[in-house]
Order: sequence, then C-alpha cells, then structure tokens
Amino acid sequence: MSAPSVITIDGPAGAGKSTLGELLARRLGYLFFDTGVMYRALAWAVLRSAIDPENSEAVAALARDLDIQVLPPGDATDGRPYTVLVDGVDVTWELRRPDVERIVSIAARHPAARAIMRERQRAIGRRGQVVMVGRDIGSIVMPDAPLKIYLDASIDERARRRTLEIQQRGGSADLQHIRNDIIRRDSLDRHVSAPAADACVIFSDGLSPEQVVDLVIAHIDDGDGLQDSHAYDRAQNPGSAGT
Ligand code: C5P
Repeated sequence: MSAPSVITIDGPAGAGKSTLGELLARRLGYLFFDTGVMYRALAWAVLRSAIDPENSEAVAALARDLDIQVLPPGDATDGRPYTVLVDGVDVTWELRRPDVERIVSIAARHPAARAIMRERQRAIGRRGQVVMVGRDIGSIVMPDAPLKIYLDASIDERARRRTLEIQQRGGSADLQHIRNDIIRRDSLDRHVSAPAADACVIFSDGLSPEQVVDLVIAHIDDGDGLQDSHAYDRAQNPGSAGT
C-alpha cells in the first residue's frame, strides 16, 4: 500500500503522539503538524491579554485575530522540533510553561474558538502529505483521513514519559505532580478525546518510539496488525459493548 496522504494521530497527553508523529513524518518525508501547539498558542495569548480563559466570547475573538505560525526550526540549536511564532513573537518554549499548561484545556473548550482552530487545521490537512497530531483530528478535523491512529498508554507510563521529557530539556519535574496534571487534563479534554470509529489503536506501554513507528509502517505496508477502535472501546468501557 502507498502511504496515505493524511495520517492523523490522536490520544491523551503524554501518550507519545508527538514523538510518533515526528518519526513517522521523517520516515515518509511528510510535514509534521502538532495541533496542540495551536491551543497552547491560544492559551499563551490569553495569559498575555489577561482575559478570563473561561470567557468564550473573548477567547474566540482572540483566536480569530491571532496569527500563529509553525515553521521549521531553521538554525535553532536548542533541540526544538519547530518554531512557533504568535503575532511574530517566538514562543516555542514558552508554550511549555506550567501557567500555559494550567489553562490550555480551559481555553480550548470553547466551541467558537475550536471552530476557528479546526478550520485552520483543515487548510493544512488539505494540502496532503501531512502527519497531524491532536485529540480530535481523526474524529472531527479530518474525518476522511485514510489512516487514523489512536495512541494510548497507561497513566503511569504517560506521567513517566512526560517527566523524562521535561528533565531531558533541563527542567525540573516531579512525577506525582505531572501525574496529577495529566489526570486533570484528561478530564478537561474528555469532550474531544474519543477515538474515531475507524481509528487504529496502539497501546504503547512497553513499546519504544521506534517500535511504535515500525508497527504503523507495517500497517501501511501490509494493511493489518493494528486493533480497530471498536475493540478498544469495548476493552476500555465494557459496559458500552455491543452498541
Ligand atoms: O497535545 P498537547 O498536550 O500539546 O495539547 C495541549 C492541550 O490542547 C490539550 O490538553 C487539549 O486541551 C488541547 N488540544 C485540543 N485539541 C487538539 C489538540 C490539543 O483540545 N486537537
């Protein structure tokens, strides 16, 4: 099978979506686009403007006027996978700040703001040859994408990976604190977190990033090997089986 023109990767915080997306895009020569960055940029702008992240009209107005550019890292030597400019300001690392993380899921909840973000994401998706990562990409943003992955992992594994990632960037991170924050974000993000009905599910505990990429590439080549999301729904949610 030739590589699908659009590959979506959704799943909860810390599941390894960005790592998988970057590796997969590199192998296929595709653009890697992390939609979480757009919501983080919005949250950053909410803080800059000192507006209430719960105020849906103000957040949507901000989203409408916000110029978010995600560019190749260029000459940067700080390990960034891309450069993010918000209204011309380089905010690449600021988007990882704890205060941004604290409000991002609140700013991302408003339907009007989401509609603006989704339309921009679709414009990128329509160009093709893209691996797009987020929460609702396969289910809502690009429902016709030919390959949809839903990447999941246990809460302990996700907290461990996120802690390591921060430490590798030279930051200090407390495992328990990060675990609690992931649980809080899981709960706030639940409204956009259901896998698409035709998503292929990968549960990545015990798998290295390269093993996960190999699974996806094997799936692209052979067309099998990954679980469908109905099986996943039943496993996660036995009470809803059979619908
Ligand atoms: O993926 P990441 O952790 O960077 O996403 C930050 C936040 O952005 C998520 O917790 C979620 O609230 C929001 N988000 C979203 N829809 C997406 C991507 C991210 O609501 N497609």
